[in-house]
Amino acid sequence: MSPDPERRSQLFLIFGGPGAGKGTQASLLSQSLGIPHISSGELLREHQRRDTQNVMSSGELLPDDLVTGVVMARLEQSDAAQGAILDGFPRTVAQARALDAWLDQRGGGICAAFYLDVPPDELVARIVNRREISHRGDDNAAVAERRVTIFNREMPPILEHYAAHGQLYRIDGAQSVDRIHKQITEALASPAGPDR
Ligand code: ADP
Repeated sequence: MSPDPERRSQLFLIFGGPGAGKGTQASLLSQSLGIPHISSGELLREHQRRDTQNVMSSGELLPDDLVTGVVMARLEQSDAAQGAILDGFPRTVAQARALDAWLDQRGGGICAAFYLDVPPDELVARIVNRREISHRGDDNAAVAERRVTIFNREMPPILEHYAAHGQLYRIDGAQSVDRIHKQITEALASPAGPDR
């Protein structure tokens, strides 16, 4: 299929470990840009299948095909025709390649990728603290440490992938929510582009 010129999806990616604040920042950016916030974790939690839930509650990643299918189906919906903020996807190099292939086919591109950098100990502490409000089975210390380990294993080549394309902005994720949002919006307004 050749790219549809009417459908130039502009995507913004938010990366960071579990508890880094991706969801919060994706939601603020979604409001300021007026395009939907698509969280792979939220989409997958809506999958009420027991095998999916078991993998998620152990902190392991779900199969690339399943996740890619769910996220692409969401991207095909009409409210995402102009673009979207992706939170939690891509999480593996195979997913990043699948997203590139989808954009090549459909038209559109990645405007920017933001990496919210938060030290591993702080990530685990935040997850344990948010358990009271998240009520998520995977928000406990043991599973949080496993999620951080998986993140540290999977993320470097993905960050390199987007850095090599000049699309990656690294943001200090230990700052306040407002400060981070301001840095993201300033980065998007700046003609200089990301530091390479
Ligand atoms: P967090 O980033 O705080 O760990 P998410 O809600 O993004 O939380 O993800 C929760 C779980 O959903 C992950 O631990 C994993 O099991 C599954 N998941 C989410 N996104 C992906 C993805 N892109 N690939 C594989 N598994 C995923």
